[in-house]
Amino acid sequence: MAEKISAPKGTYDILPRDQPVRLWVEGRAADVFRRYGYGRLDTPMFEETRLFARGVGESTDIVRKEMYTFQDMGGRSMTLRPEGTAPAARAYVEHGMHTWPQPVKLWYHWPMFRYESPQSGRYRQHWQFGIEAFGSDSPVLDAEVIGVLATLYDDIGLAQVELRLNSMGCRECRPDYVARLRAFLEDRKGELCKDCRERATLNPLRTFDCKVEGCRAVMEQAPRLIDWLCPACAEHHAVVQRHLELQGIAYLPDHRLVRGMDYYTRTTFEFQSAVLGAQSGVGGGGRYDDLVETIGGPPTPGVGFRNGSRTHPSGIGAFPRRPAHGRGTDRLPSRPHRRGPGTGLPAGPRAPPAGGRGGA
Ligand SMILES: [Zn+2]
Ligand SMILES: [Zn+2]
Repeated sequence: MAEKISAPKGTYDILPRDQPVRLWVEGRAADVFRRYGYGRLDTPMFEETRLFARGVGESTDIVRKEMYTFQDMGGRSMTLRPEGTAPAARAYVEHGMHTWPQPVKLWYHWPMFRYESPQSGRYRQHWQFGIEAFGSDSPVLDAEVIGVLATLYDDIGLAQVELRLNSMGCRECRPDYVARLRAFLEDRKGELCKDCRERATLNPLRTFDCKVEGCRAVMEQAPRLIDWLCPACAEHHAVVQRHLELQGIAYLPDHRLVRGMDYYTRTTFEFQSAVLGAQSGVGGGGRYDDLVETIGGPPTPGVGFRNGSRTHPSGIGAFPRRPAHGRGTDRLPSRPHRRGPGTGLPAGPRAPPAGGRGGA
């Protein structure tokens, strides 16, 4: 008998019995996105490597060590898509979407590819859905984007998620802050782990992500970007918060929330499980006002999110779900359950009032 062949390490098959859950979640997502005025975008599963190198950033973990990069027969360097924002920005530029009515609102549901270590429990191919809104720098749009994800979680009954919010500043205020942080890290170098000593030079903001006890203690005393925002960024952040409050969405300020891409400016956010803790980000995103320009387009602000679990085939993670009509958590409601105001969980996000701002 010939040797048996298995699926590549870190991948999974999706069998017929798993399809209804996926279809149901995608259907709910598509419905919420449509209500907010988002149109579906599909792009190739691979792109020129330089799109991610420039867009996501040479110094990020993704570009340095997680990409599936190969040379095609024509000798061009290609990469399997590791994230959705750079390809969406590329399509925005390529199709002249800056001439469309702004903001241009796009959504996707795509497989993503990252060369993860199998021990981390992360998959090398996983699915994400996300939205990207290009062409407006209004902080109201940031709050709306967060509201779309909150509405979706509410809609599919994802329970006990809490929203963390931060600002990454802009190209006016961040460089000064990074210089300040770098000087601080240089002073405390002896107390940092090997990875953080490397991050201190390469990408100092990532030192906030370190899980090593000693590093965390040092970072408690580090200067915080949120305290060094320029007046325009501070005002932007204040308006985002005001509009979250207007939508009744609870959030926790978290100055350590830097996320892994270089393109983020101003707002960053993440929904985490209140039960599973900080390693459990299920969805998040932020603003990327310089990205389109970085990849060769006209200066165009943008904001978006992605949702997807790198550790769980459902794509929404092993999250507590509100029981649907008394059935088990792995069964779908025959009709999606939607709760009215005032019946929710304390830490959960709340949807905007029915018939509220929904886009066209
Ligand atoms: Zn700024
Ligand atoms: Zn460290």
